[in-house]
Amino acid sequence: MKKLIKFILAGLVSCSLTACSTPSQNTPSTSAPSTTATSTETDYDVIVIGAGGAGLTAAISAKEAGANVIVLEKMGVIGGNTAISGGEMAAPNNWLQQEQGIEDSVEQFKEDIMVGGDNEANEALVSVLAENALDGAMWLKDEINVPFEDYMLFFGGHSVMRSLVPENASGSTITSSLKTKADELGIQVLTQTEATQLLMEDGKVNGVVANTKDGEITYHANKAVIIATGGFGSNVEMRKQYNPDMDEKILSTCTVGSTGDGITMAQAIGADVTDMEYIQTYPTCDIDSGLLLYVGDVRLAGRAILVNKEGKRFVEELERRDVISLAVTEQTDQVSYLFFDENGLAAADIMDAHGHEYDKLIEEGKLVKADTIEEAAEHFEIDAAALKETVETFNQYAKDGNDLDFNLRGTLTPFADEGPYYIMVSKPAVHHTMGGLVINTDAQVIDTAGNVIPGLYAAGEVTGDIHGTNRLGSDAIADIIVFGRIAGQNAAK
Ligand SMILES: Cc1cc2nc3c(=O)[nH]c(=O)nc-3n(C[C@H](O)[C@H](O)[C@H](O)COP(=O)(O)OP(=O)(O)OC[C@H]3O[C@@H](n4cnc5c(N)ncnc54)[C@H](O)[C@@H]3O)c2cc1C
Repeated sequence: MKKLIKFILAGLVSCSLTACSTPSQNTPSTSAPSTTATSTETDYDVIVIGAGGAGLTAAISAKEAGANVIVLEKMGVIGGNTAISGGEMAAPNNWLQQEQGIEDSVEQFKEDIMVGGDNEANEALVSVLAENALDGAMWLKDEINVPFEDYMLFFGGHSVMRSLVPENASGSTITSSLKTKADELGIQVLTQTEATQLLMEDGKVNGVVANTKDGEITYHANKAVIIATGGFGSNVEMRKQYNPDMDEKILSTCTVGSTGDGITMAQAIGADVTDMEYIQTYPTCDIDSGLLLYVGDVRLAGRAILVNKEGKRFVEELERRDVISLAVTEQTDQVSYLFFDENGLAAADIMDAHGHEYDKLIEEGKLVKADTIEEAAEHFEIDAAALKETVETFNQYAKDGNDLDFNLRGTLTPFADEGPYYIMVSKPAVHHTMGGLVINTDAQVIDTAGNVIPGLYAAGEVTGDIHGTNRLGSDAIADIIVFGRIAGQNAAK
């Protein structure tokens, strides 16, 4: 039997040093494994800023390469967006693909990333990601002991099913395993320790100033500093600075810690940024809070259709997130309705991990379960006759094996002739910031003149140029593990 998800989703108030978030905001609510609040020692080989997936991976890699490492985390809990993510990770030629006879290749993955990002990504960085994703997944499985489910998901924009799913379909499975490994290796992770400034001496980064509950502390890095502070999806001012469309009217799926601190700290010492205007929205989020709705993963299992108030489909359900999001904003009330049946819900295997979300949505009337299509449609005042016709048409396409309207990829499965049926309302929210610091293939940060900034590395969502205009689902976890490992190994040299 699966373990219950480790999140405590309600009633938790999580604070950084500068701001406390209310329970209604998005917080990584993994109960934090033992951390040290402050450290009397301030000299280290490598300082990692940010205890999300990229930071913990980098810290472990640096430590295993022989460095004395410390991790600074501004929030009261570790994990960042990684912990609240689904943790799904794209890896070509993975063990489940081999078992299921799914043909894939590094080249195909690389092409999917490039095309998915409108060929705006840096090809050299994409090659590194594609070539090392499987190795990263094996490292998580075999070295970090991350348990993986025995099924995969098919994310929009990928040409084959290649996305591995950690136990409970939760990124907290990954961050808690990483933290356990960090503890075993004796790596200190200081929570409530907010990095505010990078220090330089003789042109080399050699330290970090941080606000702690005991006041300002300067940490010295004999070898290097690694920035792993994540994206800026929760920083509305920064979003608007680079993309005025991404204003306060658009909610966010991200944690309150995703404020782009690493970007501004590095810019202050001359670092270059790229792709900052490319901000991704996720199409199926809570209409009031912006939380990403995991019940919507029925779509990723290929078992749901998206319809509008008029009861009609309007987009391919496995299209890129930006394409679906844009299509949703063009529909009545700027929302979409996800239609699925009992078999689809079972196939997506989400109830163990996300049963609490299901219950809450039902309670709030944002998800309805009904015996007939008409009854479900009535709840949201959707045109029931049109929806019935849409479902019948889709069922015929499924039987024929060809979706003549939107060419839905994957294997098509008809909806059951009898209920129960489900409809979930949702709308897009800011999800991922593709832009960030410019790095090279060694994860070194580059300045505005195109030169390496000695002693400074970056990995994860804080970096740019890896996903182009649009990140494909499950590519971020591959990104943070691959570049986290590279940053850690190189910083320790
Ligand atoms: C709801 C949701 C679901 C997702 N699902 C998936 C998925 O299934 N697959 C996938 O590939 N991607 C997914 N993503 C995207 C992916 O989770 C992120 O891009 C990725 O986890 C970012 O990892 P990171 O280590 O770079 O940053 P984070 O995990 O966000 O970690 C950054 C850390 O740095 C800390 N920090 C920030 N500033 C400072 C500072 N000044 N000082 C100290 N610490 C600081 C933060 O508090 C945070 O803990 C999802 C994202 C969200 C929001």
